[in-house]
Amino acid sequence: MAHREGIARLALGLTLLGGCHLGWAAESARPPVVEPVFGPRPRVATTPAELASLRSSQSFEAVQAAVVRQADALLAAPPPLPDGPGNWIFYYACPADGARLRAVTAAKHECPACGKAYTDRRTVEAYRCLQHNTLDSAALQLASAYTYTGEERYAAGTQRILLFLADTYDSYPGRRDRWGRHGILAPLGGRRYVQSLDEAYGVIPLAKAYDLTCEAAVWTADQRRHVEEDFLRLTARTLLRFNQDINNHQTWYNAGLMAIGSALGDADLVRQVLTMRGGYYDQMARSLGDDGLWYEGTMAYQRYALGAILEIVDVGRRLGLPLHEHPRLKALILSPALACYPDGSFPVINDSDPATLAGFDESFEWAWKAWGDERFAQARARGDSARLEALIGRPATATWPLTRGTVDFPDLGLLKLEAGQGSQAACVFLDYGPHGGGHGHFDKLGITLFAGGREWLLDPGRLSYSVPEYKTWVKTTAAHNTVTVNGRDQAATAGRLLWTTAGEGWTAGAAECDSAYPEVLLRRHLVLTPDFLLDVFDVRAEPARTVDLLVHAQADRVEPQLGTDPPEGEDCVPGERDGYPHLTGGKAFGTRGAAPPSRWAFVAGASRLEAVFVPVAGEQVIACVGIGYRLGERAPCLIRRVRLRDGAVRLISLYTWGMGDVVTGAAQVATAADGSMAVSAAGRQWRVRFADGAAGAVPVSVSYDR
Ligand SMILES: [Zn+2]
Ligand SMILES: [Zn+2]
Repeated sequence: MAHREGIARLALGLTLLGGCHLGWAAESARPPVVEPVFGPRPRVATTPAELASLRSSQSFEAVQAAVVRQADALLAAPPPLPDGPGNWIFYYACPADGARLRAVTAAKHECPACGKAYTDRRTVEAYRCLQHNTLDSAALQLASAYTYTGEERYAAGTQRILLFLADTYDSYPGRRDRWGRHGILAPLGGRRYVQSLDEAYGVIPLAKAYDLTCEAAVWTADQRRHVEEDFLRLTARTLLRFNQDINNHQTWYNAGLMAIGSALGDADLVRQVLTMRGGYYDQMARSLGDDGLWYEGTMAYQRYALGAILEIVDVGRRLGLPLHEHPRLKALILSPALACYPDGSFPVINDSDPATLAGFDESFEWAWKAWGDERFAQARARGDSARLEALIGRPATATWPLTRGTVDFPDLGLLKLEAGQGSQAACVFLDYGPHGGGHGHFDKLGITLFAGGREWLLDPGRLSYSVPEYKTWVKTTAAHNTVTVNGRDQAATAGRLLWTTAGEGWTAGAAECDSAYPEVLLRRHLVLTPDFLLDVFDVRAEPARTVDLLVHAQADRVEPQLGTDPPEGEDCVPGERDGYPHLTGGKAFGTRGAAPPSRWAFVAGASRLEAVFVPVAGEQVIACVGIGYRLGERAPCLIRRVRLRDGAVRLISLYTWGMGDVVTGAAQVATAADGSMAVSAAGRQWRVRFADGAAGAVPVSVSYDR
C-alpha cells in the first residue's frame, strides 16, 4: 500500500568518483634518503629498549617461563643436524594416497595410511627440509631463552646450529629447484632449500638468533666471522641472484635480506633491499594500489606478502628507517577490514579460497601499536567492545563494520555496497575491474551478496588448482552471478565504475562493460538497503542473441513461490560449453509461451533469500544446480534467459531476506510508465529511478515512505 502523501524526497548524498576512494594520497615511488643506524645489539628481533620494556611488563615472567621450557627441551634433545640440503616439503607425502609420511630413520620413511616404505633420494631430501625448518626455529627459541636469562648454555645451543650451517652451506649445490633444474635454469631455486622463498623465510629466525647471541661468551671472533661470511652472506648471495620483481616471493627475499643486512651491520645491503627493483619501495609502489590491495587480488597472497612486509618494516624501524611511515602501508593493513563482509569473511573472487579477517589479527594489533589509529583496534575487535577495551586500555565502544555506504577499490576494480549495522548488515560486492591476470575469472559485473548474517550469492573462488573444474567451471562466466551472451565466456577484460552514491538507509552504484562481448554493452545498477537488493541489469546487443543472467546461491534448494500448485518445469540442459555442463538438473519454466514464475526462494534451513523477477516478454527461467565452495557441494542456480528481440533488455531483480513469513509474499517490484521502479519490501514503499546516461545527471533518485 502506497502512502503517496508520506513520501519524503531524500537529498542525495552524491559521492563523485574519486571522492569515494580511500583517503591515502598516492605517494612518490622515490624513497626518502635515510641511512640505517646500526645501534647496539640486539637490533634485529628486538632492541635493548624494547627488552627493558618487556622485562618491566606484568607478562614477562610468563613469557620467559614458556620460552625457557621450550629451550630446555631443545637442550635435552638437540635437533638432529641434516645430512645435506632439503627438497620441497610437499614431496614428503605418499604418492598413492597423499598422506604425510613419518620418519623411521633419516633414511627410511613410511606412509601411516598404507604402510609403504620410502627410501628414495627425493623423499629423504624432503625430510631434510623438515629438519632444516626445525633448526631455523630452534635457533631462535634457544636465543630467546639466552636473551631472557643470560644463561650461556642457551647461546651455545644456538651457536651449535649456526656453526653447523656455516660449516656446510657452501658444500650444497650451487642452485637447484624442486623440478631438479640447476643454475640459471632454476630462478626460483635455492641452496639449503630448493626454493629461495624457503631460504629467505628460514634465514630470518637464524639472523635474529645470531644477533641475539653473538656477544655471548661462547662465541670467538673467528666463529662469528665464519657464520657471518660462510652462512649469512652466502645466503644473501642466493637471495640476490634472481629477482622476482613485484611478486610475493621477492617480498620474502627482501625480508630475509633485511634481517641479514641488520645482523651483519651492512648498510649497503640494507640500502639495496630498500631501493632496488622489486625492493621495498618499488614493491610498495607497484605491488599494490592506493586502495591497499595486493595486486594478485586474493587475500591469501595479501596476507602472505604482508607478513614479509611487516618483517622488513620492523627490522628497518630498529635501524632508524621510517619504513612504517610509507603512506600505503596503512592502506595495505587496513584494506582487508574494508574489503570483507560484515561477519569478517571475504568474498571469494578470482583464485581465492574462503578466508576471514582472523588471519589479519596480528597485523591489526601491530598497526594499532605502531600508529595508535583506532580503526585498527576496531578491525581487531570487530564489534566486541570488551576486546576493544582490552586492546586500547580504556573504555570504548566497538563500531563495526568499519565501512558504510560505498567503498571502491579502484585498482582491483571492486565496488562494495553496505547497508545496515553490525554483522546483520547487508553487503554486495560488484566486480567491474581488470581481469586479474592468470588468477582472474571471466566474471565482469558479477556480484556476491551477504545478507541476514550469511553469504547468499557466491563466487566459487578457485576450488583447487589441481582439479579439472578449475578450468571447466570456476573461471567461466557461467559460474558467476552475471550475464553471458549466447552461452559463451566473456573476454578477459575490464569494465568501469559509472557512479556510486548513498542516501539515508540506502546505497547504490553502477558499472558497465562494453568489451566482455563484441558489440555488447553490459550495464548493472544496484540499490542496497538493509532489507533488499534491487538489481537492474541492462544489456544492449544485436537482436537474436541469447542473454542469460545467472544467480548462484549457497542454499539447500531453489523453488518457485506459487501457492499450493507450483508448475512443473520441463527438463532442460542449460548449455553445452563454457561451464554450462556443470549446471545440472535443469528445469525450464516459461516454455510453450507460458510466463515463468516471477517469485522464487533460495531455501537454506530456516533462512530464505527471495527473488522477484520483473517479467520480460519471452523470458524463460531455468532452475538448476551448480557447484559451491567444494566439489560435490551443490549450489542452486537460477538463470533468467531472454532472446533479444529489439537490441536491448532490462532485467530487474529484487532480492529480500529474512526468516519465513517476515518477507514471504511481501516483496513486490514493478515498473511504471516513466521507467521508475516501485519496490515494496519490509513494510515500506520505495521508488527508484536511474538516469539514462545523460552526462552530469544525478545517476539515481531514490525515495521511500517512512
Ligand atoms: Zn600411502
Ligand atoms: Zn570467480
